[in-house]
Amino acid sequence: MPTRKIADLPGHKSEEVCLHPEHKVAPMQVFPPGIYEHTCPSCGKTYTFAVGVVSKLKSEIYYD
Ligand SMILES: [Zn+2]
Repeated sequence: MPTRKIADLPGHKSEEVCLHPEHKVAPMQVFPPGIYEHTCPSCGKTYTFAVGVVSKLKSEIYYD
């Protein structure tokens, strides 16, 4: 397809809701401490998150 949409119109809500089950890391999943990258296999959105040593809580850092 030679023509592709590159942007939404101003004011249009561009954030589409992705319902893929692997869009986000499963909240129950446990990782060793470190920095991780997760990419949704459906929409391709990638984000990184850090797993702490003490709290074991995931803090997510989103990149658009
Ligand atoms: Zn997705």
